[in-house]
Amino acid sequence: MAPGVDGPAATDGDRPAATAVAVAGVRVAALGSDRDVLALRGRRTRVVDLRGRTVLPGFTDAHTHPVSGGLRHVECDLDRFDTEAAHLAAVAAYAAAHPDRAWIVGDGWSMETFPGGIARREALDSVVPDRPVLLTNRDGHGAWVNTRALELAGIDAATPDPPLGRIERDPDGTPVGMLQEAAIELVRRLIPEHDQATFERALLDAQAELHALGITGWQDANVPHRLVAAYRAIAGRGQLTARVTLSLSTNEFDLYGEEADPFGGTDAIAAVRDAVAAEASAGGLGRPGPGRLAAPAVKFFVDGIIESRTAAMLEPYLGGDGAPAGGRGTLNFDPAVLRALAVDLDARGFQLHYHAIGDGAVREALDAIEVARRANGARDGRHHVAHIQVIHPDDIPRFRALDAVANGQPLWAVHESQMDELTIPILGPERTAWQYPFGSLLRAGARLAFGSDWTVSTAEPFPQLEVAVRRVWPGEVDGIPFLPAERLTLDEALRAFTVGSAFVSWQDESGWLGVGRLADLVVLDRDLDLVDLGLSGDLAATKVVATLVGGELVHEAPALEG
Ligand SMILES: [Zn+2]
Repeated sequence: MAPGVDGPAATDGDRPAATAVAVAGVRVAALGSDRDVLALRGRRTRVVDLRGRTVLPGFTDAHTHPVSGGLRHVECDLDRFDTEAAHLAAVAAYAAAHPDRAWIVGDGWSMETFPGGIARREALDSVVPDRPVLLTNRDGHGAWVNTRALELAGIDAATPDPPLGRIERDPDGTPVGMLQEAAIELVRRLIPEHDQATFERALLDAQAELHALGITGWQDANVPHRLVAAYRAIAGRGQLTARVTLSLSTNEFDLYGEEADPFGGTDAIAAVRDAVAAEASAGGLGRPGPGRLAAPAVKFFVDGIIESRTAAMLEPYLGGDGAPAGGRGTLNFDPAVLRALAVDLDARGFQLHYHAIGDGAVREALDAIEVARRANGARDGRHHVAHIQVIHPDDIPRFRALDAVANGQPLWAVHESQMDELTIPILGPERTAWQYPFGSLLRAGARLAFGSDWTVSTAEPFPQLEVAVRRVWPGEVDGIPFLPAERLTLDEALRAFTVGSAFVSWQDESGWLGVGRLADLVVLDRDLDLVDLGLSGDLAATKVVATLVGGELVHEAPALEG
């Protein structure tokens, strides 16, 4: 918890000087020395001897997309490749292995592999000429398609860009095979939807993967109707072991109807509001209680991303010569609609969860929260602004003033090619220095939460924590830190990923350890105090050997048995 912000006293909870933990039922019964704790061993108290390893509260991922992670086992997974040839070989292999699939669908490719972040259809045609292909890039804001997919969608040189989307083109207007933002939907809407059983399988696969990384709870950052149904089904069967908070989607037209165009004025507001209320109340999903599933949040994509110039900026992007060029990006909502929805949903007890990357979008999100507070008074809304890539310095104190949670994705705060080649040149030096200001936010008293945005980035907490602490890519010992004044201490970073993320996910009994608290905890393979003293690359390599949720062992590495 940030200095000056009310909340649980996490200092003695998040890094307990304990060598043993006793768990009775769902709660921590004791935390202390071997002697004290071992004395409690009994029929109803399970004792884990830590043997010098560190115990921490379980991690809560404050912004993640687990179904996308689970679907990687079903679709074409391009997460591991760094050359165009390797991507194409993987697509060809997947197509050959799945001759029955009418569509080749996948994701995970990275923009820096392709000149200017633009992938072309001819390359895909060379490996899959006959079936349509749609491959979303790692951040989900752009997609690479082949010629067959463009033909089926009827996209050609005469097709106008859709609202809030862009069809990348050659100078003569011919589509190159790269679709940005809402233009992806022109193709995606043709792809047959997975059935619910596939979504449930994906969720369970993802849950196992996340528990193995020490994640005991999360906020699913964009949940359309069909995924609410999948979550409900596995929770109903007692298979949901994580604590999950759902951010209901506002950009899925199948849920909210065509009239829910965010620029559509009052009809749009009513449609979104009614659909969200119906979704949350059906099945009794309110604020998290004793169950493991709740749907108190509503997600808004306020803008896009910097690299494709779709993030909304206060001032224009820069061109190759450093002069303003290419506009200020795109706000996905009419500000009046965004504010009216904030007032209405806040009054009805919903949490507002904003995707905001550009300084213009961050300001719009904060403005919406401010308007809601003025209309409804200060409520325990726990509204949050996620990604917060560029924050105008004037807006940093507003997080504390509005009690808005800053939901950061620490892995992104590094010099790597997407930052150095695609982002810094179009932001210029002043705005480059306003990126991911986690240290400044904490110093200004903001509440900070961390999330991975998996599958945009890795779900592993320790590489993310290392970047938060060093602002250098994990393991790059000699790398140049990205804005070193924004570095956090290890304890600050851990608090963001535990008590901060649990707070913004309404998991108030998780996030810090103490006697009587829920036994949501992880055991690491090493002593974190020793890592902290040396602060070597060992932090990123830290592994979780056991994960408990509510006292139940949900992951155990073979190492713990020995
Ligand atoms: Zn996300």
